[in-house]
Amino acid sequence: MAYKSSVYGGHKSDSRRTVTLKLLNGNDVFQLPCNVSTTVAEVKEMVAGKTMVDASDLQFFYKAGPYMTKQKDMSQIAPVTLIKGVTSFEPQKHKWPHPIGIIGQGYHGMKTAMTYLMDNNENIVCFDRHKMVGGYCWITGANKTSRLQTEFGSFHVWWGPDMISNGKMAYPNCNDAKGWHIWPYKTEILNHFDHAANQFGLKPHIHFETNVAKMEIIGGANDESRYYKLHCENVTDGAPSTQNVSVLYTFPGSLTQNRIIDYPGEDVFDGEIRYGMNDDTPYDKLQDATCAILGNGAFAVENARTIVECGGVKAWIVTRRKNLASPRIPSWFVHQGPIPTPGAFVLKMFEPMYNLVGFGDPWQFHAVHANSERTNVTILQNSRFGIGDVTFIMLAWGLLEYVVATLKRCSRHTLHLSNGDKLENVTVILKALGLLGDWSVDKLHNMTQMVGSYCSGDFRRPLMIDATGMNAANFTTFSTGIGTTDFVTSNKYLHDFPKEWYRLEGMGILKTLPRHKEEPDLQKPAYLTDVKFAMTGSIIVDGMIPAMGALKSSFSRYKYTMYHKTHNVDRTLEVAIGEWDAYQKEWKARGIEHDHVPYPYNRKMIGQWFQDWSSLTKVPISINGPDVDPMPPMPFEFHEQFKAMADSKATENKPLVRVQ
Ligand SMILES: Cc1cc2nc3c(=O)[nH]c(=O)nc-3n(C[C@H](O)[C@H](O)[C@H](O)COP(=O)(O)OP(=O)(O)OC[C@H]3O[C@@H](n4cnc5c(N)ncnc54)[C@H](O)[C@@H]3O)c2cc1C
Repeated sequence: MAYKSSVYGGHKSDSRRTVTLKLLNGNDVFQLPCNVSTTVAEVKEMVAGKTMVDASDLQFFYKAGPYMTKQKDMSQIAPVTLIKGVTSFEPQKHKWPHPIGIIGQGYHGMKTAMTYLMDNNENIVCFDRHKMVGGYCWITGANKTSRLQTEFGSFHVWWGPDMISNGKMAYPNCNDAKGWHIWPYKTEILNHFDHAANQFGLKPHIHFETNVAKMEIIGGANDESRYYKLHCENVTDGAPSTQNVSVLYTFPGSLTQNRIIDYPGEDVFDGEIRYGMNDDTPYDKLQDATCAILGNGAFAVENARTIVECGGVKAWIVTRRKNLASPRIPSWFVHQGPIPTPGAFVLKMFEPMYNLVGFGDPWQFHAVHANSERTNVTILQNSRFGIGDVTFIMLAWGLLEYVVATLKRCSRHTLHLSNGDKLENVTVILKALGLLGDWSVDKLHNMTQMVGSYCSGDFRRPLMIDATGMNAANFTTFSTGIGTTDFVTSNKYLHDFPKEWYRLEGMGILKTLPRHKEEPDLQKPAYLTDVKFAMTGSIIVDGMIPAMGALKSSFSRYKYTMYHKTHNVDRTLEVAIGEWDAYQKEWKARGIEHDHVPYPYNRKMIGQWFQDWSSLTKVPISINGPDVDPMPPMPFEFHEQFKAMADSKATENKPLVRVQ
């Protein structure tokens, strides 16, 4: 509470003067214009506001000869004042008594740990059940044939302007053979996680092969002095250990358990029935096989490619509803855009591919909710876009077909569908029917609801997963890079400056944030939230913190600059067309007859997109990228990182050493 001099009456001098504020433990000096009557208490409040500490933690002194004398709160401020309690006039990061705990060293956990290390905060302690970094998703869930669907630029775990301006890393190089593949396979992705962990010196902070089994809150649930006692066990020998942490980030992953549906007649199917992940696919049985994939999420697209790459001759995707899928080039375009691309624009970019292979009119898909002029579109589907060109070229060659139906029952090598059709000569079924939550996550936090991204509404226990589904009218990304960077930036800020959270609490944020309660009937624990929930929560928090705009203002320019440096339009087209043609060549060599299908996207068409997009959004971007046609500053940008982003080159190459 600011001290009000007027309350005490008497004559107050309004003459102006300048007071010199010096730090006892630090070099900063601040010249403060004030009145003669300005009191110590008033200046304390001002310094506390600027440095984000409590005024009660500040002590003011003046020097008289060899002595330091403490100034009283109601005295007039001394002309030269020495301050104890802060080390600079910048916002002071809170020092928590215990380390920052991070559960999970997959994409999200690594990113969080790297962000702390980049800020020279080594007081972190991380846990993962695996013996290496990269997470369940890529170490265990992905197949050996799995590939990144979005481009490497949107995914690399060191995504973000701070990583570049800090000089720790450069843009990934996807421009030549030394560099990363634009759409890398599993081994290379694991390599990239390992590379980043080494660059940041992350591994010594991780307790590998350690399961965090139980968490106790020590102290009152809302006391600032509370901390979290983690009970851990080594996954190989069961050895117990404990660790106290003041803040606990949880990144448990979302791809842990397959949705299991058993169909009548599976026992007589007389073929392979698997889930198409965790390397359970019978790769050796795919040669010359006809296969059926049940479901139409991103993993269905993934499995169609696996089938054809392992010599399969036909894949059926059997789905209740056909989902939109994105070809590679529209995905690249959205990811390089400095501001979101409208949904209508996204669908227009899909059209050349959809028309070429007869995939259907994108505007007619169930996910699309558009106005009659087709200018405003919301895309709403339960799973993310499968991204890739391969399913489209498979469709064109008749190697893939969609059937909109559900499986009723199986008989020998046959699927009997709800629409009365039969799929015959099928020898492999991959049930990509989605994934379920893990109730042990809710149990660990002893919670039945998430409030925004906070376990039981506790801002010191944020939790994030790769949220499911799509629900947007404008698209910033189809990938995880920017979303994770955004999440970590917001939460680290709140933990560095908890007074900001207390301010938000005072404004009633806990009543405003969305809540997700466990839904046992749907087999959904509380932590398993969808993309709409996650986005609403983050918009509310960010909207209430004025500093957040500045912290994230360079994301837009980073997207655009990094994308064109990492894999510009020519390189992206070269690799995409190369792979499109290579598939056709290989199929011909296998004796499959079909005319060559030319790639539907080219530089000229994409050049037109750049022009249309620029006039639609009023943000001028160029197909040649910012090195050739620099992008002018945008109204919401702060400029500190411009130069570093413009100067940095795409030099981050694949390391020579492979992950075991
Ligand atoms: C085949 C495939 C393709 C994909 N393609 C893309 C793509 O193209 N673009 C894109 O953006 N995304 C893609 N994704 C998704 C993306 O990779 C994931 O969103 C991301 O890797 C998830 O990271 P995570 O940290 O949330 O979870 P995970 O990778 O699942 O890691 C969670 C980790 O937490 C650990 N853990 C959990 N609980 C505990 C505990 N109690 N104690 C100790 N450790 C614990 C687990 O051991 C695990 O290692 C793809 C995923 C797959 C599988």
